[in-house]
Amino acid sequence: MQSTLEIALERAAREHARRITALHLRIGALSGVVKEALEFAFDVVTADTLAQGASLTIDTVPVVCYCQKCQSEFQPPDPFYECPNCGQLSHQLLRGNEMDLLSIEIQT
Ligand SMILES: [Zn+2]
Repeated sequence: MQSTLEIALERAAREHARRITALHLRIGALSGVVKEALEFAFDVVTADTLAQGASLTIDTVPVVCYCQKCQSEFQPPDPFYECPNCGQLSHQLLRGNEMDLLSIEIQT
């Protein structure tokens, strides 16, 4: 959360923003981030920053794996990442572990 906020603050500074009014995040289902915990942390880390009082929108993205054998992507139903076509275990996690800052809204 801290590093995401830093990215947001840098962007806001580049735009000469006086305030950040909203942040839009995307977190992976596997990132280990609990939405409620993130919302709480957000209030704490944004205190006394440009982002104080900003609204927070969080999109959760499902886990997506890639099977080399079938050359296809799939969403594993369990954490073992077994390809539904061939049964091979995938070690390539395409999505599900990220925490990205999608966009911010600012006031200048
Ligand atoms: Zn496969």
